[in-house]
Amino acid sequence: MIKELQIRTPSHACFVDITSEVGRFVGQSGVNEGICCLYVPHTTAGLTINENADPTVQSDILRQLDKFVPWDDHYAHSEGNAAAHIKSSLLGSSLMILIESGRLRLGTWQGIFLAEFDGPRTRQVWVKTLAG
Ligand code: ZN
Repeated sequence: MIKELQIRTPSHACFVDITSEVGRFVGQSGVNEGICCLYVPHTTAGLTINENADPTVQSDILRQLDKFVPWDDHYAHSEGNAAAHIKSSLLGSSLMILIESGRLRLGTWQGIFLAEFDGPRTRQVWVKTLAG
């Protein structure tokens, strides 16, 4: 079974902490030991794991990504959102997290984030657990 999380992103570029939604699904999935796979089926959003204790970490990452990949930079892509596509590829579209004792095994300060680069939109994150 694949769980399709629907995530409403609130702004043009932001991180949305989805750790609790993913953790809830892992608990419901019945997998005690295994892996949790996450996949975002979008070309202008991504997934990442980073600190969820201090929100300035997320804003610093977004700010630096804007420096590396400015919104306007004479891109060839005519839709006008080339920067969002590039940032999506930089962060990646999938994650794999260990499951132990029916829970996500994350580091103390780690959270799972959907990274929005061309919002606000309603995004999907597909989640599957595998026992093993
Ligand atoms: Zn585009």
